[in-house]
Amino acid sequence: MTPETRVAVITGAASGIGRALAVHYAHRGVHSVIGTFPGDPHDPEETLRLVTDAGGQGVVHEVDVRSTPSVDAFAERALAEYGRLDYAVANAGILRNSPLGEMTDERWEDMLDVDLTGVLRTLRAGSARMTGGGAMVAVSSIAGGVYGWEEHAHYAAAKAGVLGLIRSVAAELGPRGIRANAVIPGLIETPQSLDPVNSLGPDGLQRAGLEIPWGRVGRPEEVASVIGFLTSEDASYVTGQSLIVDGGLTIKMRA
Ligand code: NAD
Repeated sequence: MTPETRVAVITGAASGIGRALAVHYAHRGVHSVIGTFPGDPHDPEETLRLVTDAGGQGVVHEVDVRSTPSVDAFAERALAEYGRLDYAVANAGILRNSPLGEMTDERWEDMLDVDLTGVLRTLRAGSARMTGGGAMVAVSSIAGGVYGWEEHAHYAAAKAGVLGLIRSVAAELGPRGIRANAVIPGLIETPQSLDPVNSLGPDGLQRAGLEIPWGRVGRPEEVASVIGFLTSEDASYVTGQSLIVDGGLTIKMRA
């Protein structure tokens, strides 16, 4: 560690966008607390291996964003391990398919507990431990952040809620030198979107890619680099914003 070394906590970093972000940070000398959810089959050690191979440093920490004590302990790990916390990235999320008629209160609440309240818990725990300013990013989605999505009302509501949350947090924490922004990914090839039951699956992604102006779905690294930009000093005057990362998916007019 040098005085310039920055430290990040990333939820959901054992796979997909979160894993790519830990690697992005490793290349830039940012140490990561790699959040992993034991209920999922992802391998956090693979993230750590990629971080180490990139010349970076990180530690794996189990966190369930549905639990405030768990998220608080996660953010605290940054202080215990590295003595500081600069960036908090609320990336963890779940996606479930549910027609409105089958949307029980339990399904609704389970979704919001992870995808909206989980973001609040992460931003709250992270900002409480940032003593020298900092930056936070929450991961929304074009589903909710831009579009509606049939049979995914709970997911879309949570992801839209993230945008209001981030604006409010940004307004509140600006005076403390803490910025807060959101990314709004389009279709990104990760375990979440490769799930054919709750999302598009491999064939659906392939077809959808042909409709995207950029000609394909996105890679996790292409969202991670934008999150990295938003937490970096290059974005020192950007706060309360939401940046769409979708290869032009949402700007294409359909006849
Ligand atoms: P992913 O499934 O690989 O990543 C999600 C991560 O969240 C997983 O590692 C999972 O273990 C973790 N997680 C789930 N429940 C958790 C809990 N209770 N506590 C802690 N961690 C938990 O998929 P991804 O696409 O990399 O997802 C990252 C974020 O991007 C999510 O918020 C997702 O909704 C969002 N997103 C993804 C896409 C896409 O096309 N892949 C599009 C828009 C938004």
